[in-house]
Amino acid sequence: MGGDTLSVHLPPEEGPDAWYNVLPDLPEPLPPPKDDEAGQPRLKMLSQVLLKECLRQETATSRWIPIPQEILDLYRQAGRPRPLFRARRLERRLDTPAKLYFKSEFYSPTGSHKVNTALAQAWYAAAAGFERVTTETGAGQWGTALSYAASLVGLKTTVYWVRAVHDWKADRRNLMRLYGAEVHASPSPVTETGRQLLKEDANHPGSLGIAVSEGLEDARADPKAVYCLGSVLNHVLMHQTIIGLETKKQFEMLGEYPDVLISCLGGGSNFGGFALPFMPDAFHGRPIRFLAAQSEAAPNLQGEYRYDFADHAELTPQLKMYTLGHRKEMTPIRGDGLRYHAAAPILSLLRHLGYIETVAYPADERHVFERARMFVQAEGFLPAPESAYGVACAIDEALKCKEKGERKTIAFNISGHGFMDMEAYRAVLGG
Ligand SMILES: *Cc1c(COP(=O)(O)O)cnc(C)c1O
Repeated sequence: MGGDTLSVHLPPEEGPDAWYNVLPDLPEPLPPPKDDEAGQPRLKMLSQVLLKECLRQETATSRWIPIPQEILDLYRQAGRPRPLFRARRLERRLDTPAKLYFKSEFYSPTGSHKVNTALAQAWYAAAAGFERVTTETGAGQWGTALSYAASLVGLKTTVYWVRAVHDWKADRRNLMRLYGAEVHASPSPVTETGRQLLKEDANHPGSLGIAVSEGLEDARADPKAVYCLGSVLNHVLMHQTIIGLETKKQFEMLGEYPDVLISCLGGGSNFGGFALPFMPDAFHGRPIRFLAAQSEAAPNLQGEYRYDFADHAELTPQLKMYTLGHRKEMTPIRGDGLRYHAAAPILSLLRHLGYIETVAYPADERHVFERARMFVQAEGFLPAPESAYGVACAIDEALKCKEKGERKTIAFNISGHGFMDMEAYRAVLGG
């Protein structure tokens, strides 16, 4: 009897020491960002508020970008490499012939995969001599991750947090402050963008796009501050490839290879980080399915593939993305990190080329949370509300395998834990 538990631990010295840059391997060149003809020079503005190193990485042409030793140390401090688990108990309860594996980004000091890019960006910011980082946050995970990372490398953080979420997540707000961050509900009276919107509606619920505008405006006005972004951009997805690179090695250790890769997708950083290292195999004809789990509140991969702004106030250049429109009103959901109007340009191109499928779950979230409960009871780990979408999708796929009698290997990423989101579970499932 081998027992029920199969967990694959990668020794730290065998962990990846370079990030994977998919750009040179893409079947078609990635459409570049652009300024609209009549517009202000937004590209120039962006290059003034973002980190030089991150901008360099944004368009890097080499396939591998070495991870500085100091960042590898910070990864180690944050618990990397993280184990890959076989979900045998869940398989049995579903009575499925499929094999289910999950990657454990929930073993994160702040609760999500976002520490993987936060640590890199904070370290680069400190190395470049900045004293403060500014950012936006939606669900709160990115703001927390950046506050934590900045604190470790000795920087201050200012977070603009979508008001609709800020107001009910008191504990997470407190955690950011514990890391020393200054936290503003967005729209805030601190920026011009915020003041304009508050004039129209003093209780404006905010959006991620608006919070991005505020973070950019703040950094632009202070030469000691730099703006950091938690998703969507190429360099962010690249930092996150640490997830998929580890996973790939772990499958090699098992002598297996996944047929399906699944994760939730908001802006696309955890999905990209998990999936991109497997993409070259798909480009070379290996039949792997990549499945993105989304909400009907923000099914951005089902939108239009066109140039659009990344933020509400149109401060960013336009990116070619699957988008719902940058001023689209989206129903609030508990998996708020999935509520963004567009998907990362890299993933949008790959969807356009037919490499990525998507599923959008109803905005009442019942199905998703019920599936997450099955996972909790079988495997014991509590997924973040966003991660619950990936879990639900993996379970649904496993049940399809049961119907068809297929023994597929399904790998899914659990992007974070839900310990600070118990209220979401209570609101949807009762209790
Ligand atoms: C932010 C977040 C997401 C969604 O963002 P992506 O960039 O699409 O990964 C998903 N899960 C968790 C736990 C998050 O914190």
